[in-house]
Amino acid sequence: MNRAAFELALVSTHLPTLAVVTVQASGDPSLLDAETPVYDFFGDGMGGFSDEFASHIRNEADRVLWPIITGAAQPAPLPDDAMLKRMVIWLAGGEVPDHYLPFLLEELALDGRDRRAPAAIEARKLSAIVCGAGMSGLLAAHRLRQAGVEVTIVEANGDVGGTWYLNRYPGVRVDTPNHLYSYSFEPNHDWPEFYSQGDVLLGYFQRFARAHGLYEVTRFDTRVEHARWDGARWQVETSGGTLSADIFVSAVGQLNQPRYPDIPGRQDFAGPAFHSARWDDGVDLTGKRVAVIGTGASAFQFVPAIVDRVVHMDVFQRSAPWLGPTDNYHDPVPEGFQWAVEHIPAYDKWYRFWLFWMLTDGVLPNVRVDDGWNGPEHTIGAANAELRAALIEKIEAQLADRRDLLDRVIPNYVLGGKRSLRDNGVWLRAIAREHVDLVTTPIERIVADGVVTADGVHRPADVLIYGTGFHASNFLGSFRVTGSGGVDLHDRWAGDPRAYLGLMVPDFPNFFMVYGPNTNIVVNGSIIFLSECGVNYIVEAARLIAERGPVSVKPHVHDAFNARVDAENARMAWGQPGVSSWYKGANGRVTQNWPFALVDYWAATRAPNPDDLIAA
Ligand code: NAP
Repeated sequence: MNRAAFELALVSTHLPTLAVVTVQASGDPSLLDAETPVYDFFGDGMGGFSDEFASHIRNEADRVLWPIITGAAQPAPLPDDAMLKRMVIWLAGGEVPDHYLPFLLEELALDGRDRRAPAAIEARKLSAIVCGAGMSGLLAAHRLRQAGVEVTIVEANGDVGGTWYLNRYPGVRVDTPNHLYSYSFEPNHDWPEFYSQGDVLLGYFQRFARAHGLYEVTRFDTRVEHARWDGARWQVETSGGTLSADIFVSAVGQLNQPRYPDIPGRQDFAGPAFHSARWDDGVDLTGKRVAVIGTGASAFQFVPAIVDRVVHMDVFQRSAPWLGPTDNYHDPVPEGFQWAVEHIPAYDKWYRFWLFWMLTDGVLPNVRVDDGWNGPEHTIGAANAELRAALIEKIEAQLADRRDLLDRVIPNYVLGGKRSLRDNGVWLRAIAREHVDLVTTPIERIVADGVVTADGVHRPADVLIYGTGFHASNFLGSFRVTGSGGVDLHDRWAGDPRAYLGLMVPDFPNFFMVYGPNTNIVVNGSIIFLSECGVNYIVEAARLIAERGPVSVKPHVHDAFNARVDAENARMAWGQPGVSSWYKGANGRVTQNWPFALVDYWAATRAPNPDDLIAA
């Protein structure tokens, strides 16, 4: 073992995590007595320890961990539940409600067991068709196969990866920390960056698919056209013929149909024009005048990545994004940190746990309405107003030399109304460049050689790039689904998609969605976690199907669930009447978001309650 690398690890690791792994390895909790981590929202996450305590942690880690790493000593046995609870609470930096503990300990998986792996389904051999080989579809297929279900995946693209396969624009990267954005049971120890880039993510999902035999069961370049329940099974018509199975799972994601804006003259543009999710690598942007429409999560990443290449860029903004300070957003994982993830026992698990907790439900009060709140415009509560003011201060600090931009970059809607973007300064630096104009006058029309705004100004462009998002509310918009008695899913929804737990719809037996309606999160957690929960439910429902035959959700259970979701979404920032976003459908209902705590989704998806379901 490399002593120099270990010493580097001691100074580059996440200190609170280092303390906890030292306690675990020694079995001696006294390190937890001296100081408790305090996490400042805008801080470095290191716990705010005194210098003395920080060096004490490092000395203890050296004394305890090095002999274990070199094989000269054995680690203490795994902590018992009481000790684990103490470690969890200490690392979290505060009280953790009791009902969170089983949920957190499952996520932590300290014993290395895949605690979410399903037991084999014994009653009957089932088959399933999974539509989509992205993050959720691969997961659903893998878990169903683990339970003994015969799975076929149907994938429209030529490879796995879904969003990471399709979104290849310059600068694309994950905006959830990577040591968390991975399957809980499939850790990756060599993320090159804290928020790795698209090709790295694609590689992770390709490796996962390869390791679990999922390529062999996938029909690539094949589109589902119509899935039909025939009274006993699903008949799935695809571009490559009809397949049949007991269960049909849609895992097509919420953000896979690019949305082009409805701006007059769009077809008249004579130069190259493309959407961020269909980036055209054949178009050389060097020395070009580029018009970018949209300032959401995608534009936020590709604008800074291309700004040096272009001779001029007009960025057309309808709403300014909220910016969440994230200093390490583009940072490589330092060598010592990397070494710790790979070699310090349980470091990877506790660090992931810490990220999980920091991004979990503690942030929700910042974006929830305080009853009776009567504060400033565009605020919904005390915590929301305080955070808003702090974020505006951070924006102002970045634009000391460009005060003229402030009016345009400070959002005029409630914080949390849309997903905040991770900011390490590159966005505002790009926008402030001399050859970039942030245009907030509405677009009137697109013409052959540029864009004309409502004030009559013609802005010439050689290339037009749409960062205008996706048809998010058009769930499963690329195919038909027909349930019992010939009911059509899209007719049933009538533009207002809803489901029970995002998973099931009445009269659609043995049909499930992953990342379906109201399972998106805005401020808390990783979407992979939600998918793991949903897939857990699907596999347990499959067990019930094998034992009792086809099932669908009872209408009153579905309706009562949606009423609860709607009531809670109305209390959240993204549900406020003045906020417009892709989270809302045409009728203004929030169709995308899960408004409750993550622990609630976890608890609701442990297993189906047979009383909620009806035999088909
Ligand atoms: P988006 O967030 O929906 O942003 C679309 C942008 O286009 C918005 O600024 C929108 O303005 C603007 N726009 C739409 N129609 C317009 C029109 N007719 N005229 C002018 N502007 C128009 O789409 P996105 O940036 O592709 O991101 C979608 C979602 O994908 C994100 O919220 C996130 O969940 C996910 N995503 C994640 C990552 C990541 O993790 N790294 C990266 C990219 C995307 P308004 O805001 O006024 O509607």
